[in-house]
Amino acid sequence: MSSFVRGNRDLIKAMNRSLVLNTLRREDVLSRTQLTEKSGLSVGTVSQIITELLSRQWIIEIGEGDYTGGRRQTLIRLNPDAGSAIGLKLMENRVACAVTNIAGKTLYYRDYAYSADANPQAICDKLYEIVQDALNSITAQHGRLLGIGIGVAGVIDAPRGVVHYSPYFGWRDVSLAQMLQDKLAVPVYIENDVNTLTISEQLFGAGRHQQNYIVATIGRGIGMGIVINHQLFRGSKGGGGELGHITVMQDGPQCSCGKRGCLEAVASDPAVVQYVQERLPGNAKALNTLGNILAAAQAGNPVCREALARSGEYFGIALSTMINVLNPSLCILSGEGVTAGEFRLNPMREALKKHTFNDLLDSTEFVVEPADDRMWARGAASLVISKVFESPLAEAQITSL
Ligand SMILES: [Zn+2]
Repeated sequence: MSSFVRGNRDLIKAMNRSLVLNTLRREDVLSRTQLTEKSGLSVGTVSQIITELLSRQWIIEIGEGDYTGGRRQTLIRLNPDAGSAIGLKLMENRVACAVTNIAGKTLYYRDYAYSADANPQAICDKLYEIVQDALNSITAQHGRLLGIGIGVAGVIDAPRGVVHYSPYFGWRDVSLAQMLQDKLAVPVYIENDVNTLTISEQLFGAGRHQQNYIVATIGRGIGMGIVINHQLFRGSKGGGGELGHITVMQDGPQCSCGKRGCLEAVASDPAVVQYVQERLPGNAKALNTLGNILAAAQAGNPVCREALARSGEYFGIALSTMINVLNPSLCILSGEGVTAGEFRLNPMREALKKHTFNDLLDSTEFVVEPADDRMWARGAASLVISKVFESPLAEAQITSL
């Protein structure tokens, strides 16, 4: 057999295996017959792949389903403990760390504060220490460690593992994934933090059955993850989806990116705090967080209500533009800022109705999914798990068992 033919056969096998794994991921539990129907593969191919995946413990049999044609069929599902992943959400002065299984269940969580030393090597050393703690929590029953995922705000060149630009640390072209991988014997991946949440929604959440959807986050910053035809859209340098930095107010407030009038400078949580503090300088101490402002709004404070409403309105205007451009079937609203609830979300909905073209809004479903540090860290871990379901990497990982 020529190496070309063998190479092609290996590739087809890997693609079929990936198709089976992804079908099981989307559908949870299937019989062999259902798996054959849903995957479109032949009975023989499915049978061969199942035998192989069972022997390598990527899938498990879980009892029997209904009678079909006179005999019971054994049901199959992914083995949630086929492997584990460590997720690190890197923030300005904190790191949140989670260990999950391949079903996205969090097995361990811890967060760490560190002093603001933006030196890449110092942060890499800190991450290494945090990973050592997490490794101590992983027992044999959690399966092999598949890798480490890092989520960080900014423009991330994910395929190369490079932080192209980080607004928090002022980094330009820092190969953080490689730096950490050099200290550890497992693969390290890095991705924009909102993209990691988007991947986690695609693997385990509301995005599982959606072809085109967006995840818009509001909180400390404002960001967006975009999935087009089931694929995360990163843009040419990883900068796709910078929703927070579209201009919504000419000559508006100064943004952390250096421009003026960005959505983030007008509508993020710090922008809401700033808006309130400028108008109520006497209450600067009491109204210094979104939580305090929300409580004051609930108690009837008109300035706090207005600040949240204004933030929601600008967020809605920006989202309507995204819906006009992308026509997604689903928009997942996430980040810690959605906890401001109807004070922010009602004005957002009104702005969406006012500014979305024709009837495009009718075909967009909205789901509110607050993300705290634990969710962000889980998102970073899902970056690793997503590699299992990408066919060439799944091949590399399965054969290396
Ligand atoms: Zn900006």
